[in-house]
Order: sequence, then C-alpha cells, then structure tokens
Amino acid sequence: MTNTYRNLIRFSTLLQYKTLFPISIFLLAISLSIILLRGESSRLQTVHALHEMTGALPADWPFEPLVHKNLNMLEGTTDTVLSIVEIVKRGDSLSRIFKRHGISRHDLANLLASNKKSKQLRYLKPMQKITLKVKNGHLVRLQIQLTSLNSAIFNLTESGDYTFLQETLTPQVQLAAVRTTINRSLYLDGKSIGLSDKTLMQLTSIFAWDIDFSQDIRAGDTFSLIYEVLLHEGGMLREGRILAAEFTNRGQTIRAILNIDDLGHESYFSGNGNAMHKAFLRNPVHFSRISSKFDLNRKHPVLNKIRAHKGVDYAAPSGTEIKSTADGKISFLGTKGGYGNTIEIEHGGKYSTLYAHLSKFSKRLKIGALVKQGEVIGEVGQSGLATGPHLHYEFRINGLHINPLTVKLPQARSIEPRYLRQFKNQSTLLGNMLTSMSKSSVIKTSDKLQPANHREILDLYQEK
Ligand SMILES: [Zn+2]
Repeated sequence: MTNTYRNLIRFSTLLQYKTLFPISIFLLAISLSIILLRGESSRLQTVHALHEMTGALPADWPFEPLVHKNLNMLEGTTDTVLSIVEIVKRGDSLSRIFKRHGISRHDLANLLASNKKSKQLRYLKPMQKITLKVKNGHLVRLQIQLTSLNSAIFNLTESGDYTFLQETLTPQVQLAAVRTTINRSLYLDGKSIGLSDKTLMQLTSIFAWDIDFSQDIRAGDTFSLIYEVLLHEGGMLREGRILAAEFTNRGQTIRAILNIDDLGHESYFSGNGNAMHKAFLRNPVHFSRISSKFDLNRKHPVLNKIRAHKGVDYAAPSGTEIKSTADGKISFLGTKGGYGNTIEIEHGGKYSTLYAHLSKFSKRLKIGALVKQGEVIGEVGQSGLATGPHLHYEFRINGLHINPLTVKLPQARSIEPRYLRQFKNQSTLLGNMLTSMSKSSVIKTSDKLQPANHREILDLYQEK
C-alpha cells in the first residue's frame, strides 16, 4: 500500500501548470496571430497572369507551378483570414474589441441581432477568452469562453446570420495533494502554494462547524488537502472537489473525508463517519471579532449599569451578512426595544436563536418562513441601543439563555448505514495518504491522470 501512496504523492508539477497557463495563453495568441491563406480565386489569377506572360499553357499545366513563388507581385486580391485571441480587459466591450481589430461595425450589430444567445456578449468579464476569425475585415467566427469548460461559438452562415453552438470540454481529472503550515494567514499561505480562492473557501466551509476561522487560526497551524485538478490538453482548467482534508488547529487535528451518495450529494464526514456539518454553525457572521462575550454581570456600555449580557457581540462592518446558524422557522421579525431590528428563529421545539441590531432584513423573510442553515437573513447594523455596528447573538435551550460559544451543540448525524462500508474503505485509504503526507515535506502532488468519479479513483488505487 505504501508504494501506492508514494506513487500518488509526488513532487509538484501542479505549480508549474499554474504559472505556465497564462504564459501558454499568451504564446497561443502570438502563434495564432496571423494566418495568411490563399483562396481559390487568387490561384486562378496567378494562372491568368502566367498565361499572359507565357502566351500559352501546356495542356498538363501543373496545379502548383514552381514559378508561382516568384509571381507574388502579379497576384491580385487575396482573402486574408486572421485568427485573433483576445483576453478581455477591465472595461472592455465587444465593440471596443471589434474596433481594435478593424472589424466591421455592421457585423457587430448583425451578430447581436441575429441570435438570442448573443445576449451574453453584451457584458464581458475580465479575463474571458475570445477567439475571433476575421476574413477581409468581416467576422466569420467568434468563440467566447463562458466557464472553464464551456464556450459559446457564433458562426457566420451563407445567409449572413450568425448561428450559435455551445462547446463543452471533457476534462481529464488528476489528483493533487498539498500540505502547508500557516505563517501569515490561511488565505495568503494557501494562495502561495497555488490554491484558488474557491478551494480555500471550500476548505473553510468543510471545517466551519469545528474551527472558527476568524478567531482560532494561529501561526503554526497546518492543513493537508487531497483534491481534484481538471486538465485539458495539458493546461489546468480549474481545481475540482476536495476529497479529503486535514486541519491541525492549535495542536488539535481534525479530518474530513468526502462521501458522495447515490443521488450525487456530496458531504464530508469525520474518519469515523460523523458529519462535519453540525446542526448549528458556531458563528452567524464570518470574519468578525467578538467584541463582548456572554456575561451575566456585565456593565452595559450604553445604559452604564449592571445588566446581564445574555449573548455574544460580533463587531463587523455595517452590511456584513448574517447567517441563520441552523435550519428553522422565523418566530419574530421586527423592532424590539434596545435590540433594534431583530430576528428570532426557532429550531425544532428545544432550540432558538436571536439576532439583533440589524441594519436590514433579507427581503423574502416573514414570520413563519422557513430558513436553511447558513442562509443570509440580514445585515449587521447598529439599530437599537448600540455603540457601533455589531451583531448581538443569543442562543436559547428550552427558553434558557446559554453561552453560544461554549454550548455543547447537538450531536452530529452519522453517515447512513448503507454507505458505511464504502465510506470506511475510502476513509482508510485517504486517511493513510493524509498521514503519509504529514510525515514528509511541504508541497506534493500526484502526476497521475484519474477519472472524474471519486469512487472510481479510489477503486483504482485499491486494486494495486
Ligand atoms: Zn450584545
């Protein structure tokens, strides 16, 4: 088995892909810059020119005369087909791009009018790749990249319209593994080993129930990831799913392994099959600072007298999103004295949460509405009695106020029994890989191409 892991975890080619990718786009742009083609009509003209010079042509006149090369000055008009690759810049529009390359304004109007799908050409996003084929100043083909895998193609037809077709790439999936120590921040250190924002967000959302990423991260914390990388023709398209992750926070190590159920739902479980997703989020706001803790003998900052602080205050800029910490039903929505704009949510019969001093409620909410865990319910403000923008958050069990930072949250649900055997195999395998990574040095990735399906990948490793 250990050989399998050694094979899998090899030193990085991934970082090279990442740095080479923009360069390869640039080289592609240069290499495709100008392609000069001679059309049928120019060949005929060459023949006519020769005929005029020589006066007579032999019956078996060769199709490509040797003298052809020396007769360029005799050639008349030639069809010029240009292939142009553009990477959209900030503030770019299609009309600017057309102007830059001298493409007819009439073609732009025609393109935007001739197909419903051309709506998506009105608003370009920076870094989008557009490939244009232009013949004698007229647009023949336009390809625009929509996502890493999808592009839209518009082709000029004989009738002068543009038809639409969508192209979807089938990527190759490779497994990659990285491990790093946090010295500056999770974000900066994650970026420095080449991880995308999306993967880092995915990492924090996997551990969001166990680690408070705004408060708990310390220099010296480490994390390891085994994740998918999507490739096409040797270039990296994007990162895929995280299959397994390990986070060591202040000496405590937590592991999460992906399980995909029969319906394709993806969720993460600890090695022994408990869901990473708990009934309650620890915090209702991200990346904030706790400005006042649960304290039954606190002196109130505005009233200036002893008044129990029955919740936790999160200092955050006005407008910061507030999330419901669990699935539930809105039981109060409105203003409530010193609390200002307040939301209360009931979570089953036993638990309830309260969110106060809001600047704004989410639009669709009303009393009785159902909310999902993590759903944005409003924005931080300082309505009611508040010295600055913050969220006041309370947690109640059977009506009794409990410290939300220390409450023992309800037990996590476990993996469904029918997935248990398969999950145990996967978690043993991926867990061993994580262990072997934690014993060796900094950045590692595999260089094996793998099928997209998680289970297939694992089966493949198990066979060896
Ligand atoms: Zn408070």
